[in-house]
Order: sequence, then structure tokens, then C-alpha cells
Amino acid sequence: MTGFVDKWDELIDWKKRWASEGDFFVQQLKDRGVEKVLDVATGTGFHSVRLLEEGFETVSADGSAEMLAKAFSNGQGYGGHILRVVQADWRYLNRDVHGTYDAIICLGNSFTHLFSERDRRKALAEFYAMLKHDGVLILDQRNYDALLDGQYGNSHTYYYCGEEVSAEPDHVDEGLARFRYTFNDQSQYYLNMFPLRKNYVRRLMREVGFQRVDTYGDFQETYQADEPDFFIHIAEKG
Ligand code: SAM
Repeated sequence: MTGFVDKWDELIDWKKRWASEGDFFVQQLKDRGVEKVLDVATGTGFHSVRLLEEGFETVSADGSAEMLAKAFSNGQGYGGHILRVVQADWRYLNRDVHGTYDAIICLGNSFTHLFSERDRRKALAEFYAMLKHDGVLILDQRNYDALLDGQYGNSHTYYYCGEEVSAEPDHVDEGLARFRYTFNDQSQYYLNMFPLRKNYVRRLMREVGFQRVDTYGDFQETYQADEPDFFIHIAEKG
């Protein structure tokens, strides 16, 4: 994972990625009057820095100390932001992160890294508990339904930020989606993910207590006309 992440950060320009992501989630937060946000999947800091740039009070959590160190230095590099970082596993979030938040974001197809249903439920319940009574969780995921149901065939290539990196499914079944990432310098990496079905995630969110879950299709990553590449779930606590 580390080599992959370094490569991604080295080759993908954040400004380009900002442009390709658009301001959908930032707008959702602003429309709700959100002030305090917890980024639970900080990674190298892309979304946390974006939130700080937009003026949100932001706490940046991640299970990996190595990622947080990178995020911290990226924050300093992009706009001189001092990230408030906390190492915390989603499954025990309340133990390590204090306070309550208007919003929690879990972006960049991060939730796909949990491979057991028990862990997914536990993580969502922890997110729920850390939100204020009218708080909102914004969580995105790749559109695995299209992949599992064969709408793309198994050879569909996803391009990120133009052509710098492409991802192709290497193996897909209901329990595992393995992708091959090829960078424009021809280096290749494989990543294993859990293929989350859209309605399954929506159901889990409701089962842990979220009152309302809206799911949006996001067309920005590749240029498929009819099927979104990503879904963004907006789950309201109250
Ligand atoms: N949002 C960032 C982005 O899009 O660039 C980073 C996303 S990165 C794909 C996913 C992050 O989730 C990794 O940094 C990983 O350490 C973190 N992560 C995965 N499972 C986790 C868990 N159970 N608890 C906390 N963090 C976790």
C-alpha cells in the first residue's frame, strides 16, 4: 500500500484532483451549516486540506500513523495548514477521538477496506455516535454493482485525473474486488477491496440508526454515459 500511495501522491496533482472531484461534498456541508468536521479517512490529507481551505474546523483521523505523518506535512506544504491529526481505528473511534461533530467524512473509496460485516457495522455505529443529533455522514464508494453485475464487463478501465493512472478489475466476485493500477510510468500495483453493493451500504447505515440516507451517483472519474463510477451516500442522524 505504501508504494502505491507514494506513487499516487507523486503523480496526481492535488489541484487537478480537486477540479475533477468538484465541490459536491463541500456544498453539502455548507448547505447544512456544518462547522466542525471529522475526516475519518485522512490518508495523505487530500480531503482534510480541502476542508481547511474551505474554512471548516477539521480533525483528521486515520488508522495509520504513517499516513497521518504524510498528511501533516502535505498540510504544511499546501497552504501552510497545521492539521489536527489523531490516530484512530474506525472500529474504536470513540475511544481515541473526543468531542462530537456536525459532519463526518469518509471519502476516497475508503470504506471498501473493511472485509467483515461486523467491522462495517461497528465502524458505522462509531461514526453515528460521534455525530451531533442533527449531524451528517458523507461516505463514498466505487460503483461495485455495475462491476458485479457485469455491466462494464471485467475489462472496464477507470482513468483518474486524465491519464496519470488507470485501474482495471483483475478479479471480481461478491467477496473480493482486486484492482490493478497502472501509472503512466508503467509501474503497476494491486489493491484488494471489498465490493460494497450500494443498497447494502444504505441498509447498514439505516440499521445503525441513520434516519435518512440519500445516495448520489457521481460521473466524474471516467466518462461513462449511463452508469456512475462512484456513489456518495449522505446519511442524516436526526
Ligand atoms: N480520503 C483520502 C483520499 O481520498 O485521498 C484517503 C483515502 S485512503 C484510500 C483510505 C484510508 O483509510 C487509508 O489512509 C487507511 O489507513 C484508512 N483506513 C482504512 N481502514 C481503516 C480503519 N479501520 N480505521 C481507520 N482508518 C482506516
